[in-house]
Amino acid sequence: MSEPKFLIVIDAEDCKGCSLCIDFCPRNVLELVHELNRLGYHPACAVRVEDCTGCQACAQMCPEGGVTIYRRKVAEKALS
Ligand code: SF4
Ligand code: SF4
Repeated sequence: MSEPKFLIVIDAEDCKGCSLCIDFCPRNVLELVHELNRLGYHPACAVRVEDCTGCQACAQMCPEGGVTIYRRKVAEKALS
């Protein structure tokens, strides 16, 4: 398994479970999880992070603005 190049941050508590991010991901990275969030929806989650190309399609499609993609090195620097 290759090292993930991108960090996918999904605001799971505000996700409406609409699946648009999943439908538009060309790499099949995302899935809805079984658990319900505070709104009663099954939120999206990144399950194959290592396959993400950082194309941003998921972030652009989310009507809630709930998906953000970071390049891992930038994200790690910001968090350290
Ligand atoms: S950035 Fe692109 S490849 Fe990565 S999860 Fe989003 S849609 Fe999929
Ligand atoms: S597009 Fe946004 S609201 Fe819809 S499932 Fe994905 S993260 Fe949730």
